[in-house]
Amino acid sequence: MLLKLSIALGTVNALLMIAGAYLLAQAIHNVIFEQYSLAEITYLLWPLAGIILLRAVFLTLSERFSAYAALKIKSAMRQTLLNKLSLLGPSYVEQHGQGATLNTLHNGVEALHDYYAKYLPGVAYSALIPLAILIVIFPTDYKAGLIFLLTAPLIPFFMILVGSKAEALNQQRWQQLAVLGNYFFDRVQGLTQLKLFNATRLELKQIAKISDDFRHATLSVLKIAFLSSFALEFLATISVALVAVIIGFRLFFGTLDFATGFVVLLLAPEFYLPLRQLGSHYHARLQGISAAADMLIILNAPLPEQQSEHTTDKISATISSITVNNLSFTYPNSDEGIKNINLSLPNKGLIAVVGASGSGKSTLFDCLLGFHPEVIKHISINQQILSTAHIGQLQSHIAWIPQSATLFYDTIAANIKLAKPNATQQELEHAAKQAGALGFIKALPDGFNTLIGEQGEGLSGGQKQRIALARAFIKQAPILVLDEPTAHLDSETEQVIQHAIADYAKNNLVLVIAHRLNTVKNAEQLIVMHNGKIAQQGCFNSLAAEDGEFATLLQTAQQGAVHA
Ligand code: ATP
Ligand code: MG
Repeated sequence: MLLKLSIALGTVNALLMIAGAYLLAQAIHNVIFEQYSLAEITYLLWPLAGIILLRAVFLTLSERFSAYAALKIKSAMRQTLLNKLSLLGPSYVEQHGQGATLNTLHNGVEALHDYYAKYLPGVAYSALIPLAILIVIFPTDYKAGLIFLLTAPLIPFFMILVGSKAEALNQQRWQQLAVLGNYFFDRVQGLTQLKLFNATRLELKQIAKISDDFRHATLSVLKIAFLSSFALEFLATISVALVAVIIGFRLFFGTLDFATGFVVLLLAPEFYLPLRQLGSHYHARLQGISAAADMLIILNAPLPEQQSEHTTDKISATISSITVNNLSFTYPNSDEGIKNINLSLPNKGLIAVVGASGSGKSTLFDCLLGFHPEVIKHISINQQILSTAHIGQLQSHIAWIPQSATLFYDTIAANIKLAKPNATQQELEHAAKQAGALGFIKALPDGFNTLIGEQGEGLSGGQKQRIALARAFIKQAPILVLDEPTAHLDSETEQVIQHAIADYAKNNLVLVIAHRLNTVKNAEQLIVMHNGKIAQQGCFNSLAAEDGEFATLLQTAQQGAVHA
């Protein structure tokens, strides 16, 4: 709508320009050939001044509108992409690379700006303005009109010729940008490690190489862009010169009056201008199209399965039992995963899952959290078999703390209130107290309003973990799922956290992946995983007495403790 308004204004602007050319030619003709005085041509000069002023206003408005339209399109596009990405879930972003996705969301959407703000209006102008000029020129002087008509198609023809080559090059450049984005993102995240392992020099070389490839691709695109605009300018200049020479001859032989010749001369550059500009905006089109192709990949990505937010059968808010029936999940392109899991979980108490690294603990939890919708039908709550339509509800009943919880660049209060934005200050303090975080938060100069950096910068590992815990507690979900942090907390913090979890487990179900065996001692039930299967199940003492996977784990842990 705005774009159309902008194009309409631009076209009116062109019509004014044509009228202005007529007025100017008439005024000059009158002064030179009819010897009019200044006073006698003021009736021409005032409208001319008006036209010049109006044109300035229209031009500004037209550019503003098209820029504003492009802005709106961009933000709508970002919103759509983000919505789709949130439906696709975190695994999609991981598969396609975080850097590349970020690049599409940022640079890609940005590349649409020139496409909408410049190229699309340019297409309209290059059809409308030359047509308008032809319509007024033909009745005045059909010979000049013919020259315009014959030379005009040369420019678009040449543009298409160059365009097909540039398009392929530009696609290639865009792909390289995605590679660069992924690589850069990855390395920046691991910068500390790179520095520690003294690998920065090597990485710099690698980054330099990728950047250089990208530079080559960019330059070859630019080379074509410059060459093509040179050719277009050249064609346009020759055409204008041709018109000028012919008019010169006709004036010389007296077959044309001055005013008409002058109008044609004034309009000749304006006739080719939109075509030339279209040529230079052609680059914007190429970039826009390459970027749009990336966005289409995201927008057309199939959703894991039909997922509707609305379903008639709701999961009851009071959960009495959770069962897992013969659940197997293997990762795509690999045969790793979990097999034949059968579980029956109560509605309260602390249940710990243990097992060697790679035994499938995290995979099992991901399935329970609904991250793998294809296996959701193996899970039932209160004997009700779940379907993909229930995933949203299931997740609303679960508070989840991953191994390293993500904290955002915001205040501590905002980070805790993530799951419950309308929580009161009282609820906030209560949750923080439960998580053993109230003490250190209050000790900070700004308390709950302290800003924390990206990834919780400015806080210690234990403090981050406690904030994540408070975030989970404030949700008051009947199920708390917790992947224990592997980084060692100081024993005081650890005790605070364990106490808080044990407290929460009195009224709710707490599922914890335990990496340390002292968490496990308080657990009502232990689930021991081995090679993707449940190897043993029971309480600590009975499992420790048995000869099995758990005994082996205990032994390894004790040996570890001795060595440490
Ligand atoms: P840890 O204690 O080290 O966290 P874990 O018990 O949580 O280990 P999982 O992450 O569940 O182990 O992994 C189970 C198996 O699935 C492993 O063999 C692992 O290699 C494999 N696996 C995990 N994630 C993926 C993935 N995204 N793609 C393919 N295989 C995977
Ligand atoms: Mg794990």
